[in-house]
Amino acid sequence: MLSVSEIKSLLATPQKIVITTHHKPDGDAMGSSLGLYAYLIQKGHHVKVITPTDYPYFLHWLPNNSDVIIYTEQQELSARLVEEASMVFCLDFNTLSRINELGELVRASDAYKIMIDHHLDPEDFDDYRHWSISACAAAQLVYDFIVNELKEGEFMNKDIATCLYTGIMTDSGSFRFPSADATVYRIAADLIDFGAEHWRIHQLVYDNATENRLRFLGHCLSNKLEILRDYRTAIITVTKEELKEFNIQTGDTEGIVNYALSVNGIKLAAFIIERTDKVKLSLRSTGDFPANEICKKYFNGGGHRNAAGGYSDKNLTDTVLEFKALLEEYKTQLLQ
Ligand code: 5GP
Ligand code: MN
Repeated sequence: MLSVSEIKSLLATPQKIVITTHHKPDGDAMGSSLGLYAYLIQKGHHVKVITPTDYPYFLHWLPNNSDVIIYTEQQELSARLVEEASMVFCLDFNTLSRINELGELVRASDAYKIMIDHHLDPEDFDDYRHWSISACAAAQLVYDFIVNELKEGEFMNKDIATCLYTGIMTDSGSFRFPSADATVYRIAADLIDFGAEHWRIHQLVYDNATENRLRFLGHCLSNKLEILRDYRTAIITVTKEELKEFNIQTGDTEGIVNYALSVNGIKLAAFIIERTDKVKLSLRSTGDFPANEICKKYFNGGGHRNAAGGYSDKNLTDTVLEFKALLEEYKTQLLQ
């Protein structure tokens, strides 16, 4: 294990650094990665952000987005960069399976591995860990890492602040989840002082939908929402054909599950979508209900208590049947 002072002395001379984050990166994954990137390039390091897959178009405006390498599009270059790296930062994930094939490359690399993350049950592959499940976002931990651990607050600038604000805003549901405590609001205020334009960031992320996305949302709400009052559960299911019909792109389905959760009395919401290779589930819950337990036990996944995901190798119909059947086991907790 490395100490903070060892990291500080490593970072005192130019390093070859790879920053990576989870499969299908979200606002926190990209915000924390590009925030750390903007800090490290300022310090004179040779840095690359490598994502395992592509990510939503409403994150493409982030500062330095054009420097991001997508593994599936540049496999040889990615493999070489990981192999040659002296440090690999793993942001917003804590098991190497979350970064697909990149995971084995990172495991095999001699680089120091630094995990900055807020998910449960970290795997033991790292040399240094800035990890807390009480953090609302990995971006909050990157802020804490730069300002409080490395004590390099003087390097904060508008690009870093913009990226970290994006991560915190998206993972805290625009500052409305319980994880957005007073400390998070103070950090947000600091980030605004450092140049983050909170109104603009919100607009770029949330008011940037394609017409297709909005019509698809309308279709999901009108035709695909199923309310199971007996289990205080709402489900939206989507087929491959519907994704094609509405020309759905990466990011277009983001957040739709929250509409299901917004129905009064609903404690658990599921968005179940038939992707080309497998059926993907996104669960959201309120209060103490552990959505991540369901994902872990039944759907090869995990996540946070109130936001979790997983997948099934069964077909869509059977996955939905399995999901409905398992609700009986959780009925007491759902009706509490
Ligand atoms: P989403 O529903 O937005 O895809 O994911 C919500 C949260 O669930 C993510 O932040 C992540 O923590 C977790 N999650 C989603 N999919 C998976 C998965 O396949 N495996 C694991 N371990 N966690 C997942
Ligand atoms: Mn996160």
